[in-house]
Amino acid sequence: MRAIAGVQVEENTTFADLTTLHIGGRPRLTLRCDTADAIVEVVRILDSAKVPLLIVGGGSNLVIADGEIDVVAVILANDEIEIKNNMLRAGAGAVWDEVVQASIQAGLGGLECLSGIPGSAGATPVQNVGAYGAEIADVLTRVRLLDRASGEVRWESADMLELSYRYSNLKFTNRAVVLEVEYQLREDGLSAPLRFGELARRLGAESAETRFPAAVVREEVLNLRRGKGMVYDPADHDTWSAGSFFTNPIVDTALATRVHQLSGEEHMPRFPAGAGPTGESKEKLSAAWLIERAGFPRGYRRGQAGLSTRHTLALTNRGGARAQELQALAREIRDGVEKCFGVRLVPEPVWVGMSIDE
Ligand SMILES: Cc1cc2nc3c(=O)[nH]c(=O)nc-3n(C[C@H](O)[C@H](O)[C@H](O)COP(=O)(O)OP(=O)(O)OC[C@H]3O[C@@H](n4cnc5c(N)ncnc54)[C@H](O)[C@@H]3O)c2cc1C
Repeated sequence: MRAIAGVQVEENTTFADLTTLHIGGRPRLTLRCDTADAIVEVVRILDSAKVPLLIVGGGSNLVIADGEIDVVAVILANDEIEIKNNMLRAGAGAVWDEVVQASIQAGLGGLECLSGIPGSAGATPVQNVGAYGAEIADVLTRVRLLDRASGEVRWESADMLELSYRYSNLKFTNRAVVLEVEYQLREDGLSAPLRFGELARRLGAESAETRFPAAVVREEVLNLRRGKGMVYDPADHDTWSAGSFFTNPIVDTALATRVHQLSGEEHMPRFPAGAGPTGESKEKLSAAWLIERAGFPRGYRRGQAGLSTRHTLALTNRGGARAQELQALAREIRDGVEKCFGVRLVPEPVWVGMSIDE
């Protein structure tokens, strides 16, 4: 590819270097793009030449096969952060936790519960990232994106993204590249009401409406996340993961009740999750709880792949794991849970060059 301003070419980078799982082979080429214009130009050229490409932010939600991977890795590194009044705009390549930190330093509330999530700002709408009772849909106003079918660049409102639990119409579709994101935050610098019991209790919230200074909530969230190995740290194998590996399953209430009976336990975490297309009531179950009850304790190993010793839902690389070891562990857990409870867990990350089954 000819020289393009703001693009650096890397020939020897592997996906093991680019992902928090530290697993994955070599892309055809790696192109690091420092500006939105550079991203647009690179993606348009590759798309028009029908060269397969993979957009990479922080690599924290990617499971990639070993060996030669037939894609060009396009790394987004446009990392500007701009704050005007209560509006924050960030380049897609900005490190997400630095965006959260900047918002709090500017006296704004709204992002605190999402502190410590690894990865980039541009990826936050992709799976509607969420944690501790908050999700990006609460604050996202719009995204500037490159439509890959038409080559057009435009702002699209958050309503167009069909944001729901760990999903948007950007995930798994490759329909667009997010170039910039815009969030509307709280000018009083206070957190949103705390919807996550453990966090509210630790902060001593008096009611479901209690708000705290965003900086205070951020610190508590980071403490909680570190305790669970959910803040990425290159020195800590419990964090060499893609975060929660399976989504929490949403099932019919009848199935939730059967699972509860099968578990033989008095208490099972189950939460109302609206109604299905024919009005049947739905409930969200805890994937971590199901995995433990199906006989996979924290620290469970399969070769160099294993469950985190601090969080059952994180599949981790204990050092030098092969993609196939991780895949075999994921499959064993999914199938074990299904055999015990009749609930099929679905992986949350994006797989490239392989899937949980192939
Ligand atoms: C320790 C740990 C804890 C985590 N905790 C959480 C959590 O609490 N909540 C949560 O929701 N997630 C969590 N995750 C998962 C992950 O951090 C998020 O999904 C994050 O948003 C991924 O961002 P990324 O930049 O690393 O995306 P990548 O892994 O680089 O990419 C993921 C997917 O998004 C696509 N993509 C990335 N950027 C763009 C873009 N700008 N435009 C279009 N497509 C794009 C990629 O092509 C790929 O398909 C955790 C992960 C780890 C490792």
